[in-house]
Amino acid sequence: MTRPVYMDYHATTPVDPRVVEAMMPYFTERFGNAASRSHVFGWEAAEAVEQARDEVAQLIGAAAAEIVFTSGATESNNLAIKGAVAGGARKRRPHVVTCATEHKSVLEVCRRLERHGVADLTVLPVDGTGRLVAEQVGEALRGDTVLVTIMLANNEIGVLQPLAEIGAITRQHGCLLHTDATQAAGRFPVDVDGLGVDLLSLSAHKVYGPKGVGALYVRRRRPRIDLLPLQDGGDQERGVRAGTINVPGVVGFGAACRIAGEELQQEPARLSRLRDRLENGILSGLAGVTVNGHQAHRLPNNSNLSFGGVEGESLLISLPEIALSSGSACSSTTSSPSHVLKAMGLDNDAAIASLRFGLGRWTSVEQVDFAIEKVVAAVTKLRRNSPSWAAMRSVRRGHERLETKELA
Ligand code: PMP
Repeated sequence: MTRPVYMDYHATTPVDPRVVEAMMPYFTERFGNAASRSHVFGWEAAEAVEQARDEVAQLIGAAAAEIVFTSGATESNNLAIKGAVAGGARKRRPHVVTCATEHKSVLEVCRRLERHGVADLTVLPVDGTGRLVAEQVGEALRGDTVLVTIMLANNEIGVLQPLAEIGAITRQHGCLLHTDATQAAGRFPVDVDGLGVDLLSLSAHKVYGPKGVGALYVRRRRPRIDLLPLQDGGDQERGVRAGTINVPGVVGFGAACRIAGEELQQEPARLSRLRDRLENGILSGLAGVTVNGHQAHRLPNNSNLSFGGVEGESLLISLPEIALSSGSACSSTTSSPSHVLKAMGLDNDAAIASLRFGLGRWTSVEQVDFAIEKVVAAVTKLRRNSPSWAAMRSVRRGHERLETKELA
C-alpha cells in the first residue's frame, strides 16, 4: 500500500537524517551519563550536551546557561507555569493571565492551578482572526499578577500573537512572560530579548529532532527567576530538572536547531509559496471555503480551512491519500470541535468541517498539487448529496441576486 502524503507537520516532523547521524554515536560507543564526572564516558556525554545547549540557545538568541533540557514542550510548559507560580508564592493565590487558544499543555495547567485554589486565572478571548490585542493583556494585569503565558504561534491556525508588544507591557508591569514557542521556533526568527520573554518552551520533534526532548529557556538576569522544580532528585540541570539527561535526544535536538537556524534564510519563503499555492488551488476549485486565522500574522507552513456544506466527520475519512488532521493531535482522541476555532467564533459544524494543513521540509510542489486535486474532488463529492450545501447555495444565490439589484 502506498503511504499517504504527509501534511501534518504541526503534529510532528520526521527526524532529519543529519540529526539521526549526529545522535547515533551517543546510543553506542559514547553512551556515558552526562553527570558522571570521573571518566571519559561521562566527560564526552557532558561535552555533547553542552554543545547542544549552545545550539538550542542560538536558535532563540539566548545564552547556553539559560537552557534547561526537558522531555518536551508539555513538560516545559508545566515547569514554566507551575514553577513560576510556586516561585512567586510569596503572594497568596497569585494571578495568571493566558489566552483561550493556547495548547492544552498551557490551558489545562492554568485551569488546574485555578481549580486547586493555587492561582487566580484570567483567560483572554481572541478576535475572529484568532489574535489577541496586546492592550487586552495590559488591562487584565493586576497587582498580584505573577505570570502571563501567551503562545507565539498557534498549532492549529498558525496565528502569531503580538508577543513583542505584550513583552513591553509585562516588562513595565513587572510580571513574568512565558511563551510556548513550540510551533514557532525554526519556522521564523525568534529572539528572546526582542520579544521580551522570560520563559520560552521548545520541543525537538517539531523541528525535525527526536520525540521526548524539549527545553525551557529561563532568563538568567533581570529578572532572576525562582522556578520551583516539578520533580525532586539529582542536581541535573542546576537542580531545576532532576533526572539523567537523554543524551542522544539532546544531541539530536541541538543538531536539529542548528540545521533549522541555517535554513531560516530560505525555508520560510519556500513554505509560504507552497502554502499559498495550496490555498489558491483549493479556493479556486471550490466555493464555500473559509481560511481560518489571520492571513498575514501566521506561520508560513500553516493553512486551516473550513468547508461549508460538508459533514465534518466524513471529510477526513474521504481523504485517505493525505495524512492530515482537523486540529491538534493532542485533542484528536476526542472528536469534540476544536477549542481554538470555537474561540474564534466558529460554530460546532464549521469547526468540525475544518482541515489543518501543515507543510514541512519534505513537502514538494507535486505533493501540494496532488492534495489540491484530492481535496477538491472529495469535497465536491461529499457536497453532491448534502442538504446543508444545497441550503447554503440557495442562500448564496439569493445574496448574489440582491447584490446585482443593488448595483443596478
Ligand atoms: N505546545 C504546542 C503549541 C504544541 O503544538 C505541542 C505539540 N502538539 C506541545 C505544546 C506539546 O509538545 P510535546 O509533544 O513536546 O510535549
